[in-house]
Amino acid sequence: MPTGPFLGEHAIVIGGSVSGILAARVLSDHFERVSVVERDFLNARPIGRKGTPQARHFHLLLAAGAAVVRDLFPELAADMPAAGAIPVDSAKDLRWFHFGVWKARVESGITLYLCNRMVLETAMRAELRRRANVEIVDDCDVVGLICEDQRITGIRCQRKGQEEGEAEALHADLVVDASGRGTRSPRWLADVGLPRVRESEVRVNVGYASRVYRMPRSFPSERLPLAVFPKPPESGRLGVMVSVDGGVLMVTLGGVCRDYPPTNNEGFVEFARSLPIDEFSILLNEAKPAPAIHGYQVPSNLRRHYDRMPGYPDGYLVVGDALCSFNPIYGQGMSAAALQVQAIQRALGRLRASGRSLRARGLGRRIQRQVARTLSLPWLLATAEDFRFAGVTGPRPFGLPIIQWYVSHILQLSATHPEIARRFVRVLNLLAGPTILFTPSIVFAVLWHTIRGRPNARLAMRGPLGEPPLPDLRPLADDEGEHLETGERPSA
Ligand SMILES: Cc1cc2nc3c(=O)[nH]c(=O)nc-3n(C[C@H](O)[C@H](O)[C@H](O)COP(=O)(O)OP(=O)(O)OC[C@H]3O[C@@H](n4cnc5c(N)ncnc54)[C@H](O)[C@@H]3O)c2cc1C
Repeated sequence: MPTGPFLGEHAIVIGGSVSGILAARVLSDHFERVSVVERDFLNARPIGRKGTPQARHFHLLLAAGAAVVRDLFPELAADMPAAGAIPVDSAKDLRWFHFGVWKARVESGITLYLCNRMVLETAMRAELRRRANVEIVDDCDVVGLICEDQRITGIRCQRKGQEEGEAEALHADLVVDASGRGTRSPRWLADVGLPRVRESEVRVNVGYASRVYRMPRSFPSERLPLAVFPKPPESGRLGVMVSVDGGVLMVTLGGVCRDYPPTNNEGFVEFARSLPIDEFSILLNEAKPAPAIHGYQVPSNLRRHYDRMPGYPDGYLVVGDALCSFNPIYGQGMSAAALQVQAIQRALGRLRASGRSLRARGLGRRIQRQVARTLSLPWLLATAEDFRFAGVTGPRPFGLPIIQWYVSHILQLSATHPEIARRFVRVLNLLAGPTILFTPSIVFAVLWHTIRGRPNARLAMRGPLGEPPLPDLRPLADDEGEHLETGERPSA
């Protein structure tokens, strides 16, 4: 816990979703008071809302992000499943068919979390509310920034029911934009006379469709969690089936390059049937669906380069999807946001320890640069994979053909080579850079694999290495037929 005088009297966070909650939690250590300003009404229960439609879809919280969440909210860390986040070993507990092969099920010691995103966000916000110096102002739309002498000194916001033009001013020593992919920061900054921020965009046009099911009591839960991932370039389809909450099964289907999963019953089931593992559609047949299927589309990976913007103002930071949003199939968004917030935490901690002022010229850009550095790895991982699909456009990572060639062997070898499987999930969990996949023994394994050729089809289909034999799938008892909605818990 930092000591000494606060860095400032007031900080404002725009947006009360995952990034905003994490940012506010960090700022509450360094400012006398923190206001989180959120456009939506924030229910104390995990209920879908307009500002976060993605929360209806399955979310992964990667190990690196989870470490930050657990550190900032130790009360949640004590019981993550109660916060909608079920811990699993990244390699051992997941039944994962990826790139045409089953990943080996070996102990990795790396815990990631299968999340009901609505429950997690609500639990995090409840913990944030407990902090005496944090207020959450909901039903309040931020409509602009106040800028004085190259410094953002506050926001203009409009409470629900207020007439247009009645926006009120709220002043602060620091404003953090965590208002998501649709942020109006680029326009707000332009409105106060600053240049337009440069963007990098890799267009992949991914679509999701999710539905919750009730599992019959006899459901073979030892087959979960099950994930079927794309095999680019031939197939860009994915399906994930996890038990998120007691007897509730969340099923998310996805497709890239406009191959969107339908949101009607027949189309949804047909899409699931088209996945390369029959088991997926067999299991789906046995569970009882909720009526609603929720769809969502993400056009691109989108990164905004505030760290390179000429004249970037002091007193302003941008985090989370407002800074960079990814193709969601890699499960990185919340974790990337957590790592960005951790960079801010470190920068503010250093500033406070040094006794220097928050008002120093150029500090905003320096911190934004440190935040941007955390994006290199998730951006590379997401975009290098996306470019395997024909039709994806945008700036290509340097050395892309070699990266893709090497990684395709790593992906196949992670079916049969336990150490490669472990290292691969370490990188995917943003715990280490790709260099750990370039040790002499792994390079040798890749070269040997290149000479020997691909694993044969039988290896690919027979099931994950290291998995104990599973009973055959039998028709299940038709014992429960109630309907469910996302976020609803089954009665005992
Ligand atoms: C289909 C899908 C699946 C995903 N799967 C995963 C996954 O498996 N793992 C993962 O880590 N990430 C995943 N993500 C990404 C993840 O949801 C986000 O990265 C994460 O929620 C962080 O978002 P955020 O808080 O930055 O923004 P958001 O969650 O978009 O929240 C922005 C908030 O700001 C508010 N707001 C917006 N404008 C204003 C304004 N003007 N004034 C006041 N408030 C405002 C909104 O109402 C909202 O509450 C997925 C995304 C999608 C679309």
